[in-house]
Amino acid sequence: MKNEKVVVCGGGGFIGGHLVADLLRQGYTNVRSVDHKSFDHWYQTHPGVENIVLDLSLIDACEKALEGASVVYNLAADMGGMGFIENNKALCMLTVLINTHLLMAAKKHGIKRYFYASSACVYNGDKQRDPNVTALKEEDAYPAMAEDGYGWEKLFSERMCRHFREDFGLTTRVARYHNVYGPIGTYEGGREKAPAAVCRKVISAKLSGKHEIEIWGAGTQTRSFMYIDDCVKGSQMLTHSDVIEPLNVGSSELVSINQLVDIVEDIAGIKLKRNYNLNAPKGVNGRNSDNTLIKSLMGWEPQIKLRDGMERTYRWIYDQMANKK
Ligand code: NAD
Repeated sequence: MKNEKVVVCGGGGFIGGHLVADLLRQGYTNVRSVDHKSFDHWYQTHPGVENIVLDLSLIDACEKALEGASVVYNLAADMGGMGFIENNKALCMLTVLINTHLLMAAKKHGIKRYFYASSACVYNGDKQRDPNVTALKEEDAYPAMAEDGYGWEKLFSERMCRHFREDFGLTTRVARYHNVYGPIGTYEGGREKAPAAVCRKVISAKLSGKHEIEIWGAGTQTRSFMYIDDCVKGSQMLTHSDVIEPLNVGSSELVSINQLVDIVEDIAGIKLKRNYNLNAPKGVNGRNSDNTLIKSLMGWEPQIKLRDGMERTYRWIYDQMANKK
């Protein structure tokens, strides 16, 4: 199994880079990593991997990317944190071309297993109005009222995976990730998500001596955050499982954004004056992952505590920022 060709689409991105690293650690010898960015923008490139630059929104590129492949992980998407997805809905929806063309190429090449990275943004917004949210079960995606733009594209692409499985016999697996964070990812530039953004702001306050922080929204909105190692593990377990329906792959450790800031301040050994920007994008009021199904089907759920993962993430971002300075 470790000799078969595994293709990671979006391999130049945050999760893709970590997945490739993990495949190599496990002894996979035939890994191809594909992304449309030039190599100097990839978060990780690994020797011994076939790294290719291709635009996977095009069918010809998808066919080339999947040549000779057995297992495909589709992690390629035009995405980012709330600041990006609220202001770039058309770009998010254009990602539909990537999954559509990859599925067509997967069917043509007789791919054995096809993994699709969906998102908790597919869930019905009505179930996420209260910060004391009831954790989201897989069935809560319907009746559909996904996050505008990004969430609808994910929901549509999930269904496309389902119909390729039902109609063409392609083995597709779908994970609904809940906020993934960790080192070697985006922490500045507008696409970063809350954990990296909070680390950057706290570090910047520490390095500059200006002890203030801007928080998007009132800080009462709640989320759960999954450390990258759990994400990489859960994705591979799901890919090789018999679970045919979309599955939550996320932490169930719920925190408010204020509590997330508390954690980072504690790691940094600093207290900051908090300025709340109520006009900034903040997303739904509350979102958590109900892990009943993943535990019953796979006997596992994400394990890494937020404090531990944030500590590692903070250290990495700190080194990047301190080196730049
Ligand atoms: P990322 O932006 O770091 O990685 C995505 C990669 O896809 C990028 O490197 C990008 O260059 C590449 N890409 C975009 N368009 C492409 C194209 N046309 N052809 C080839 N490559 C292209 O994001 P990530 O955090 O690694 O996310 C990976 C997947 O997981 C995405 O599908 C994302 O929607 C999903 N997801 C992520 C999170 C999270 O918290 N990070 C949460 C839910 C879902």
